[in-house]
Amino acid sequence: MSNLICPHCRTQVPRCATVCTGCQAEVKYGPANGLFGAALLLGAFVGYKVGHALPDSLSFGGWIAGLAVFGGLAALVQKIYADRVIFNRVYRTR
Ligand SMILES: [Zn+2]
Repeated sequence: MSNLICPHCRTQVPRCATVCTGCQAEVKYGPANGLFGAALLLGAFVGYKVGHALPDSLSFGGWIAGLAVFGGLAALVQKIYADRVIFNRVYRTR
């Protein structure tokens, strides 16, 4: 099993760990939640634009376009960041 190296304290951390054993940094895996939020916003924006460009009888096409954009971006983000690991250092007062 491959270990990770904490960028803050150079401690080797097992890949399944959620906290660094050296400095208590939080270890997070996968894409940041903000990226999914951005994908959702972009999807909503495209859906809104497409919905307005279409005649009323076809406005549901905006929803479909928005969902397609969001789904595509979310899948892309998931694929790109699947192997990403973040060490999020938490500074404690004690
Ligand atoms: Zn550490």
